[in-house]
Amino acid sequence: GGTVGILGGGQLARMLAMAAARLGLRTVILAPEAEPCAGDVAHHVIRADYGDPAGQAALAAAADVITYEFENVPVEAARALEALAPVRPGPLALDMAQDRLTEKDFLSGLGLTTAPYRAVASAAELEEAMADHGAPGILKTRRLGYDGKGQARLAGPGDAGAAFAELAGAPAILEGFVTFRREISVIAARGLSGEVVAYDPVENAHKAGILRKTTAPAPISMTRRLDAVTAAGKILRALDYVGVIGVEFFETDAGLVVNEIAPRVHNTGHWTLDACPVDQFEQHVRAVCGWPLGDGSRHSDAVMDNLIGAEAEDWSGLAADPTARLHLYGKGEARPGRKMGHVTRLTPRG
Ligand code: ATP
Ligand code: MG
Ligand code: MG
Repeated sequence: GGTVGILGGGQLARMLAMAAARLGLRTVILAPEAEPCAGDVAHHVIRADYGDPAGQAALAAAADVITYEFENVPVEAARALEALAPVRPGPLALDMAQDRLTEKDFLSGLGLTTAPYRAVASAAELEEAMADHGAPGILKTRRLGYDGKGQARLAGPGDAGAAFAELAGAPAILEGFVTFRREISVIAARGLSGEVVAYDPVENAHKAGILRKTTAPAPISMTRRLDAVTAAGKILRALDYVGVIGVEFFETDAGLVVNEIAPRVHNTGHWTLDACPVDQFEQHVRAVCGWPLGDGSRHSDAVMDNLIGAEAEDWSGLAADPTARLHLYGKGEARPGRKMGHVTRLTPRG
């Protein structure tokens, strides 16, 4: 028995709650929305802001361990909760991943290659950085960006003023544009006793900043596969991490460049639900509950397509397709850009 508390109530929390239920565990969700996506699966929902002390106390009273499904939970909330119940992964990972500058400093401090980057706090600083780094580049807000939001592309120094204005003058970093062959990611987990397991690296295709397709395995060399998994292991150990992490890379002719990390279960790991004995959600629940980690080996090759906005309206066609494993998140309104579900197609392991 036992109860897992989850900060956040989106589809990731929903899939965590389903995994927990299968292991005989209960879940309690703390989320500010009126109708969180995960609310129909969790045993209990506490509707409160993450920073609300009463909500935090109720969550800690109900849960044996607390985790989160999105990386923008206020660090202060995670710290306050840590005094009441174990929080896994710890607030350190959250703190580091919430700011693209500290994230990049951390990754390069581990000896991993990142895109060239520099903090910029004004249009003048941006122009100076552009002059030093050269074009093209990408300006990203340090905090709160996701699905490509909070980013502006820069073709040349003349774009600096407009790009900085586009991000409303928020503190940002300028990244050099990486010419990549493909984007890949690794989903990995570290258990309470320090053991690490990783899923096979996958290739990801984005459109308009949003993940569209994940292909497992990524068509990369054994050397690159080892590089990616080794980097993920280094990151997990450096953070004394417990739980599942997603690490995004660019594959270039010269090797791997780490783009960013997500201290949670990850959209590029949804294929594991259908193609691995133990999927990323169960793996995360196992890790944060102090269970042994499970078998994350790939029994099939897989292609996962996100169903975004109106794409999920054709669910009946997908439901009738015997090759499609359909996952719908039970969200109401199909707003543009909203992740409504995903579909995975398996083929025999190559
Ligand atoms: P996510 O939804 O994955 O959290 P995000 O909004 O945090 O996304 P990034 O992953 O940093 O943003 O960037 C989104 C996409 O933009 C990347 O997947 C990649 O396609 C492209 N991109 C980001 N940074 C660079 C770069 N330095 N060079 C080239 N392309 C980049
Ligand atoms: Mg991100
Ligand atoms: Mg990303």
